Amino acid sequence: MNLDLKSRINNNLERNFQEVENGLSAQEALEEASRCLYCYDAPCIEACPTGIDIPSFIKKIASGNLKGSARTIMMENPVGASCSRVCPTEELCEGSCVLNHSTKPIMIGNLQRYATDWAIKNEQALFKAGQKNGKSVAIIGGGPAGLSAARELALLGYKVTIFEAEKEAGGLNTYGIVSFRLPQSVSFWEVEQVQSLDVEIRTNTRVGVDIQPKDLVDNYDAVVLAIGMATVPYLGIEGEEVEGVLDAIDFVKATKSNPLSDQYIGKRVAVIGAGNTAIDAATCSVRLGAESVSIVYRRTAEEMTAYPFEFEFAKQEGVEFRWLTAPKRILLDEKENIKSLECVKMDLGEASEDGRRRPVVVDRSEFLLDVDIVIRAIGQSRYINLIKQFGLNHKDGVVTIDQETFQTSNESVFACGDVIFGKGQGEAMVVSAAQQGKLVAYQIHKKTSELASETV
Ligand code: SF4
Repeated sequence: MNLDLKSRINNNLERNFQEVENGLSAQEALEEASRCLYCYDAPCIEACPTGIDIPSFIKKIASGNLKGSARTIMMENPVGASCSRVCPTEELCEGSCVLNHSTKPIMIGNLQRYATDWAIKNEQALFKAGQKNGKSVAIIGGGPAGLSAARELALLGYKVTIFEAEKEAGGLNTYGIVSFRLPQSVSFWEVEQVQSLDVEIRTNTRVGVDIQPKDLVDNYDAVVLAIGMATVPYLGIEGEEVEGVLDAIDFVKATKSNPLSDQYIGKRVAVIGAGNTAIDAATCSVRLGAESVSIVYRRTAEEMTAYPFEFEFAKQEGVEFRWLTAPKRILLDEKENIKSLECVKMDLGEASEDGRRRPVVVDRSEFLLDVDIVIRAIGQSRYINLIKQFGLNHKDGVVTIDQETFQTSNESVFACGDVIFGKGQGEAMVVSAAQQGKLVAYQIHKKTSELASETV
């Protein structure tokens, strides 16, 4: 690539990572809020996993009560500012708006963002901690589920300590979703809202290494396991041990933690997988100046797990999708740099246990894709060692819980978020993790209240 072009792209990297979507203006928000019918038995509330009182927060926008509006949102969803940006609203609240049948649905996500952006900009603290009840809870993991559990428990008067392995809390919202869709400042504000309730967050603290699970179980009235998922597994193909093969989670995290790198300018990138993280890795690559970006997926668009709006965004960014294609091996040049990705065409066979048709290799269909970088985005592995250290029952790292109480096989340990997602259990969305965090808090409160009344 010519050096002049490289330096021009490089100068734009910062701008490329600024938020893509502009929020609504005051006038637009007012007009949109005024379209809402404030339905009795509003279906949009039912469709929100956290049950936000949507007509109420919209009405508060219409009447100029923005703090009240933000409070209504955040009361039900402690990560409601992030969710206004990352929720698949067309499948949830907006998908169920009654106005779908006549004109067009209310832009609930954008209105939610408008109210919470106002609270962020005006540095509002929306809640106060409840009176201390003498009980303490340890929460492992400061992502959406952990923060949500912490917020509810703090409102109920618990002394809460979050143990967070990373430098900053916020989990996926802080490190795992690209800045141009979710800036870190939004996630940090949500963390501050929780901290302002006297919740202690011990960052850079790894449970199982810096502090032992047994110490937490012995010293707290309850423990919440909200550790999420770990790294992206290897592809299991020849040649993938070289430097140019990246883990999508680490790749996106680096763009949120370090200065943006110019090493991807002009590169040809293949992303393996077609979930939301794959889309994030692909669009990140585009915005880091990659010459071409392909998503390689062994099934079709119908089976991909990325949200439709993420898929549309990737297409607009120029990402190419290679359906029914699987990676077979990575070919290197004499300097051990990636030269190409050998792929093979797939077909869809019989449905497997999960109901999805199983991809099968098409004989003698190999072809080469010239690439410089390969990014693995085929799901995430589990923190099995830590789960074992707690001695909890699990299925391949998916912690087994009682579906009603969220209790694990150790009745003092509750679990929520991605650590319970999989094997037909739980949900993958950020908003679902937030709701599970709330439900865990209520179950802990129920249990400690019952124990207290038994001892009176
Ligand atoms: Fe407003 Fe639509 Fe919800 Fe009715 S369903 S309250 S119109 S957002």
